[in-house]
Amino acid sequence: MACCLGTRLRHLSLKSGVVSDIAFTTSILGSMQTAAQSRGGAIMHTTPTAEAVKKAISPLDFFQAELPDFNPKRTTGWIDGGLCPFHQDRRPGSFKICLDSGSFRCFSCGARGGDIISFVMLRDGLKFRDALEALSANWGVD
Ligand SMILES: [Zn+2]
Repeated sequence: MACCLGTRLRHLSLKSGVVSDIAFTTSILGSMQTAAQSRGGAIMHTTPTAEAVKKAISPLDFFQAELPDFNPKRTTGWIDGGLCPFHQDRRPGSFKICLDSGSFRCFSCGARGGDIISFVMLRDGLKFRDALEALSANWGVD
C-alpha cells in the first residue's frame, strides 16, 4: 500500500515535470519566432551604418543646420558653437564644437559627445539606432 502510494506520487511529479518542460519549450519557440520576425523586419528596411551617415553628412553642414546662431570663423579645431542646445543658454561661449569629428562639448551643462549621431541621441533622447534613422531620413542618406 505504501509502495503503491509512493509510485503514484512519483508519477504525478514526473507528469508535472513534463508539463513544465512543454511550457518551457513553447516559450523558447515563441521567443525564437519573435527574433526571426524582427530579423525579417530589419531586412525589409535597412538602417544605414554609422559610417555611412557620418560620411554622408559633414559636421559643418549639420551644425549649421542644427545650431541657429552658429557662425564658424574657421573649420578646424574646437570652435564656438553659439548657444548650447542642451540647456537654457543665454550667453554664448560655453558650447564648443569640433568640425573635424563632429564632437561637441558644453562647459556649462556638461553635455558632450563624439559625433553628430551622439548629438541627435542626446538632444532628441533617441537610442543609437533611432538616431541613425532620424539622421538618414532628415538628410536623405541611403
Ligand atoms: Zn549646455
